[in-house]
Amino acid sequence: MICLICNEAETLEGRTSVVLERDEVALTFHNVPARICPHCGEAYADEAVTANLLWQAESLALAGAKFETLEYTSIETQPTSPPERNLHWQK
Ligand SMILES: [Zn+2]
Repeated sequence: MICLICNEAETLEGRTSVVLERDEVALTFHNVPARICPHCGEAYADEAVTANLLWQAESLALAGAKFETLEYTSIETQPTSPPERNLHWQK
């Protein structure tokens, strides 16, 4: 796809880091699969990856995590009863 931010280049498969923050919780995920714009560096994670990240962040926050740096791990099967989704995460 063409980058939506700069409209200058085709995005490429790559890895990025994502920081999710809410209140006093800040979680950093490294090696998140995404499409990266070689021109401006904008990263686009697909919906499944984003949902997965939010789920992991929610689980960690519920477990009491505050400042964590983690490697992204894909969850092959979504848990049957995910923690309540909180839509207030800021990317
Ligand atoms: Zn771009």
